[in-house]
Amino acid sequence: MPADFNDRTDFENADRGFIASIEPMTISDADGRRIWDMDGWAFLEGPCPDTANPSLWRQGQLNCRHGLYEVTDGIYQVRGFDLSNMTLVESDHGVIVIDPLVSQETAAAALALYRAHRGDRAVTAVIYTHAHIDHFGGVLGVVDADTGVPIVAPEHFLEHAVSENVYAGTAMLRRGYYYGGVALAKGAKGTLGMGLGPAPSTGAVGLIAPTLDITRTGQEEVLDGVRIVFQNTPGTECPAEMNFSFPDHRALCLAENATHNLHNLLTLRGAQVRDPRIWSRYLTEAIELFARDADVAFASHHWPTWGSAKIVTYLREQRDLYAYLHDQTLRLMNQGYIGTEIAEMVETPPGLDEAWHTHGYYGSASHNIKAIYQRYLGWYDGNPAHLWQHPPVAAAERYVKVIGGVDATVAKAITFLEKGDLRFAAELASHAVFAAPDSETARQVLATALTELGYGAECATWRNCFLVGANELFHEIEHTEVSAAGMAPALTVTQLFDSIAIRIDGPKAWNERLCINWTVAGDGDGTATTGSGQYRMELSNGALIHFPTTAPEDADLTVTLTKPQLIGLLLAGRTEGVEMSGDPGVLATLVGLIDSPDPDFAVVTP
Ligand SMILES: [Zn+2]
Repeated sequence: MPADFNDRTDFENADRGFIASIEPMTISDADGRRIWDMDGWAFLEGPCPDTANPSLWRQGQLNCRHGLYEVTDGIYQVRGFDLSNMTLVESDHGVIVIDPLVSQETAAAALALYRAHRGDRAVTAVIYTHAHIDHFGGVLGVVDADTGVPIVAPEHFLEHAVSENVYAGTAMLRRGYYYGGVALAKGAKGTLGMGLGPAPSTGAVGLIAPTLDITRTGQEEVLDGVRIVFQNTPGTECPAEMNFSFPDHRALCLAENATHNLHNLLTLRGAQVRDPRIWSRYLTEAIELFARDADVAFASHHWPTWGSAKIVTYLREQRDLYAYLHDQTLRLMNQGYIGTEIAEMVETPPGLDEAWHTHGYYGSASHNIKAIYQRYLGWYDGNPAHLWQHPPVAAAERYVKVIGGVDATVAKAITFLEKGDLRFAAELASHAVFAAPDSETARQVLATALTELGYGAECATWRNCFLVGANELFHEIEHTEVSAAGMAPALTVTQLFDSIAIRIDGPKAWNERLCINWTVAGDGDGTATTGSGQYRMELSNGALIHFPTTAPEDADLTVTLTKPQLIGLLLAGRTEGVEMSGDPGVLATLVGLIDSPDPDFAVVTP
C-alpha cells in the first residue's frame, strides 16, 4: 500500500517547535555574493504540477521550511539554513553546536538566529556527527580557528573528511553537479532540491581538526555539564560516523544514519559502496541502546520524530529497509540474476512502502541494489559477451549503422518515446548523439526523453541528473572552479604526494627516471596529519612511487621544507624558503609531467 497523502504527521513534526526565521531568507558572503536563497523554494508551497512526481513534491514542501525550532527543553535546531541541520544543545556556560553546516556564512547566520532568541550564549563545544562536508564545513562560522573548545568527532574523522574527495575529487564534483542539480533553475520544471534537503550552500568552507575522538560505543563524555553517551557507527552512511544520546534530555541524535528517506548506498556523484548490512545492524543497536529511553530523535537532515514508540517504529522500518535491500539482492544474486535485473525484481515490502520515510528521495532502491551487486561482485556481470564491449562512441557508431543511420535511429527513438518507453528512447537517442553529436534532432529527442524521465522521478537526485543531462544537450557546460586550497592543509604528506602521482601523464613519463628525497619538517601544529619525516619519491615506468623512509638512498634532488611550504610548492609552484640540494631541474621535469584534470568534461555528449 502506498503512503498516504492525507497523513500530515511529517508536516506537523516539521513545523513543531517553530520559533522564528529570518526575512528575506537569503544569505550572502562578505563580497555580497548570494550563497543561500531559501525564498527561491517558495514555489513548492503550491500544488504539484504535472512536471513533478507528487511524492517528491511533497518531500520538497517538507524540505523548504526554515527557521529555529525547539526540539525539546534545552535542544534546538536551525533547519533550512543549508542542506543540513545545525543542532544546538544548551550547556552550563553556553551552547554546544552539532554539525555547523556547509559554509561559515550559513553557520554564522544560523547561530545568530539562535542567539537572537535564546541569548548570546558562547559556543562551548562543537560535535561533528560524521566526516561529510555538510556536517563540518561551516565550523569557522561558529568558532575561531584557534578556539580552545572541544571539537568532538568519531575516530578517523579527519582521514575520511579529506580522503573521500581527494583522489577522485574532480570527477566527483562534475558528477555531483548532475545529482545536485546545481545549474538547474528552482521551479516546477527545474530542480526540487535533493530530497535530503534543499541543496548545499556555496560559501566559504573550512575545517578544524577534532580534539576529542569518540572511539567506542558506550563512551560517555560530559561537555560543559551536558552528559552524552556515544554509539560509534563506522561504515554506515559515512566511514566515520556516530549516533549519541543525551540521557538527561531523553533525546537521541541519529547523525545521518536515519533520515526521512532511503539514503544512498552509492551516491550518484560516485563513491565507494557503503555497507547496508552494517548500517542496518547499527540501527538495531541504536534501538537497543537508546530508543526506548528517548522522547525525541533528531538527525542532521529533516525533522525530528517524537515519542518513544514512534522512534522505535521509525528506526525498525529504516533498519528493515537496508537489511531487506541487502538480503534480497544477495538472494537473487546467488540465483544468477545481475544487478540490473534485481533492481527490477525487488519491490519495497508493502509495510515499508506505507511509511513516507522509506521512499527513495535521495537514494533509490534501483541504484542502491545495483550498488550492492557492485559491492560484492563488481562491474562485470559474468556474461563474457559483456566482458570487452566497445566504449560509448564506438558502440554508438555500430548501433546507428545497423539501425540504418542517424535519422533512422532517431525515428526509432521517437516511436519508443511515443509509446512511453522513455528508457529505451533515451538509450537509442543517446547512441544517435554519440554517433552524430551535431544532430540537433538526436539531441532534441534525447533531451525530451530525459526531461520526461526527470518529471516522473520520485528520487530528487534522479530528477536532477535527468534534467541536467537534458539541459547540457543545448547549453554550454558551465565552468566549475575547482580549488583544493581549502582542504590541502588537512591532507597527510602521503595524500599530497598521491594527489600528484594520479596526475602524472603516463605515456609522457614512460622513459623518465628520477628520485627525490623529501624531508618534511614539523610545522609545530602537533596534529597527526602533519606527517613530518623523510619520504622518498621515485619515478619509473610512468609510475610515481613514494614512501616514508628512515634511511633514504642517494637521490637526484633532496628537498627540505615544512608541510605548508610543500602545499605551496605543489599547488602554486612556490619555492620561497624551500631548501634544495642536488639538481633542481628534476623538480621542473616532474612538474612538466603533471597533467591537468578537466572539471568540465562532457557527460551526455562524446
Ligand atoms: Zn549530510
